[in-house]
Amino acid sequence: MRLGALEAGGTKMVCAIGDETGRIFEQVSIPTQTPDVTMPKLIEYFKERGVEALGVACFGPIELDRNSPQYGCITSTPKLAWRNYNIVGGLADALQCPIGFDTDVNGSVLGEVTFGQAKGKNCVIYLTIGTGVGGGIYIDGRLLHGMVHPEAGHVLIRKRSDDTYEGKCPYHKTCLEGMAAGPAIEERWGRKAAELADRTEVWDLEADYIAQALTGYILTLSPEMIILGGGVMHQEQLFPLIRQKVTQLLGGYVQAEELEDMERYIVPASLHDDQGIMGCLELARREIAG
Ligand code: ADP
Ligand code: ZN
Repeated sequence: MRLGALEAGGTKMVCAIGDETGRIFEQVSIPTQTPDVTMPKLIEYFKERGVEALGVACFGPIELDRNSPQYGCITSTPKLAWRNYNIVGGLADALQCPIGFDTDVNGSVLGEVTFGQAKGKNCVIYLTIGTGVGGGIYIDGRLLHGMVHPEAGHVLIRKRSDDTYEGKCPYHKTCLEGMAAGPAIEERWGRKAAELADRTEVWDLEADYIAQALTGYILTLSPEMIILGGGVMHQEQLFPLIRQKVTQLLGGYVQAEELEDMERYIVPASLHDDQGIMGCLELARREIAG
C-alpha cells in the first residue's frame, strides 16, 4: 500500500510517503504558516506522489466526532489562523482519498503500539513534554477519544511548597503544562530548558510534577507502559528521577509486575522520533480497513 502521513504541528508540518509496514520512503518538513499558504503545499506534495489514503495526526484541540458538522476541524487553538479550520475537509476535497485523523499524541502512541516497543500491549500512554504537554491513550485496540479527546497534559497537580512560580497555563495556571512544559521551565528559571542541564534542582522539581501526573494516569487507566517524549525529555536524567518518584507516590498500593521493572515501564520513545509519522501511516491503513 502506498500511504501518506502528515504530522501537523504548530510550527511544522511533516509530510511522508510510506507503507503499512511502517517503512518511510521519503519525508519533508514544511513550516506551518497560515492555511492559505501551507495547505496548497501539503496538497501538492501528496498529489504529486499519489497515495491510497492519508493519515493525519494533528495539533489541537480538534473535532474527532464523525457525526459532528465540525468533524476534521482544528477547534479552539491559540493559532488563530487555524481556528475552526477544516483540515480534513481541505485535504479530502483535493486528494479524493480516505483520510484518517487523530490528535498528534494519539498518532505517536499508535506508532509505538503498532511498530515500536509497545507492540502487543493493550493499554499504553504516550506523553509529550515540549512546548506544551499532551497525552495520547491507546486502549483495547483503539485510540481513546471519549467526550472530545483526552487532555492529559492539563491535569491538575499539587504545587511544591518551595516553588514560587505562578504557572503558565492560560486556563488553569498550575496544571502540568502550566508548571512543567518547556516555556514554564524557561520562565521559572530565566533560561532555556536545554541550558539548565546541570542544575539538579530544576530536574528534581520537573520530575516531581511529571511523576504526580503519571501517578494519576496509572491509578485511573492502569497502563501497561508509559512512553515519554518531547523536547524536555531530552534531559535523560529525568527518567530515573521520575521512576523513583512515581514508585514513592504510589506507596506500594498498586501491585503489578510492570511496576517492579520501572526501567521498562516508564520509557523514552523508541522509533527515532518517527513514532508520530509512523502512527500516521497506521491511521491511513486503518481508515482503508474501516
Ligand atoms: P513541540 O512541543 O513544539 O512540538 P518539542 O517537543 O521539541 O517541540 O519541544 C520544544 C520545547 O522543549 C521547548 O520549550 C524547549 O525549550 C524544550 N527543549 C528542547 N530541547 C531541549 C533539551 N535538550 N532539554 C530541555 N528542554 C528542551
Ligand atoms: Zn492547563
